[in-house]
Amino acid sequence: MSKSVIVLGAGMVGVSIALHLRQRGWDVALVDRRGPGEGASFGNAGLIQREAVHPHPFPRRLAEIARIAGNRSVDAVYHAGALPGLAYPLLRYWWQSAPERYEAVARAYARLIVTCLDEHMVVAGEAGSAELLRPIGWMRLFNDDAKLEEARKEAEAAHRDYGVGYRMLDGKELAAEEPHLLIQRKGALHWTDPYSVSDPHALTLSYARLFEAKGGRLATGDAASLRRAGQGWRVETADGPVEAAQAVIALGAAAGDLTRRFGYAPPLFGKRGYHYHFGMQGNAVLNHPFIDEESGFCLVPMRAGIRLTTGAEFARPDAPETPVQLERAEPIARRLLPLAEKVEDKPWMGTRPCTPDMLPIIGRIPGQDTLWGAFGHAHQGLTLGPTTGRLLAEMMDGEKPFIDPAPYRAERFR
Ligand SMILES: Cc1cc2nc3c(=O)[nH]c(=O)nc-3n(C[C@H](O)[C@H](O)[C@H](O)COP(=O)(O)OP(=O)(O)OC[C@H]3O[C@@H](n4cnc5c(N)ncnc54)[C@H](O)[C@@H]3O)c2cc1C
Repeated sequence: MSKSVIVLGAGMVGVSIALHLRQRGWDVALVDRRGPGEGASFGNAGLIQREAVHPHPFPRRLAEIARIAGNRSVDAVYHAGALPGLAYPLLRYWWQSAPERYEAVARAYARLIVTCLDEHMVVAGEAGSAELLRPIGWMRLFNDDAKLEEARKEAEAAHRDYGVGYRMLDGKELAAEEPHLLIQRKGALHWTDPYSVSDPHALTLSYARLFEAKGGRLATGDAASLRRAGQGWRVETADGPVEAAQAVIALGAAAGDLTRRFGYAPPLFGKRGYHYHFGMQGNAVLNHPFIDEESGFCLVPMRAGIRLTTGAEFARPDAPETPVQLERAEPIARRLLPLAEKVEDKPWMGTRPCTPDMLPIIGRIPGQDTLWGAFGHAHQGLTLGPTTGRLLAEMMDGEKPFIDPAPYRAERFR
């Protein structure tokens, strides 16, 4: 079979797949209806999360579920009208998060996560964008001794089991690291390994430019136009139809719309998130990204300003934007840092593509010889783009993959 492929979706995941396939000699067309990296890969918190060996579980404590059910929190909100459609995937998510099942999930997830720094650095080095990957880690701030101790134990276990780097800071050490924090905290957990990307869009774009420099083709088109064409595939683009022997669906939160047409309907769901950037007053600076555990949102120093990113919003994909979490978070953020004016008039919104078992889908679409999928990377798609790109390219090339792909196979949702 000829080594030609259409990759649908130019987020961090699709761009990375296209690049890895191109590097292996495939003739690759990368198709998106927008520019590269303008979906969820644009507006995230920019962390390459080497510490995220445990994916986000569904809350199991009743008090926690009741708090979120009240729909007044900053970290998680929902549209009541979306709940009937979300009931099945969320119930499965809850079931899969039970401790006895969750541990196996975390082990499979960690196998991907532990590779993320190296896989990014190889690509960014060649793309000339390594300076976007700042080796400064990120912090969780605590004002409660018991929670700080719980975080220390969690970090110790992540270090022991998966080699994750960390250090614990007391209140004084934290104040020395972040002299412009307006509040005092008892201490912090500093995950020291992660890269903090100063401009996630620029990072994805740099990988896309490398793909083009190596002879890959970028095209504008709607993935919904994908059709069978003889033994292969065809998609309509602004430059005319493109045909190839194989196709990859890497459409992030929109992937399910297309896979359903080809007989595969996994129970995917989205967690929306929003951001705004702010200036800082005077000469104030923020040296590390952080989450204040009392607050439930992230503050990250980026090129464009201090980026405030929110937690999860559960809504129907076509529902209007409702940035209530940003409205709730802003006054709290202003008590934490000397923020100046907002940089934009309108907030950004994007959707984390989620699966109920917290693992991405990477592999062949069931019942289709030449159609592949790579989506469902949830909270860590920026982190896992290059890892996924390499893994899928190795699978498509018929090589022994560098990570056992079995836990991520699409068939688990049949
Ligand atoms: C607030 C927030 C904070 C986050 N923080 C982090 C973080 O710190 N670290 C981390 O690793 N991850 C983070 N994430 C998650 C991360 O952003 C996503 O997992 C990741 O961007 C998913 O990448 P993707 O390539 O699968 O999807 P996307 O980046 O969404 O790409 C999908 C692409 O498909 C295209 N597309 C969709 N439909 C069609 C169609 N019909 N035709 C053509 N093209 C189409 C879109 O235009 C888009 O370019 C965060 C997410 C949010 C929302």
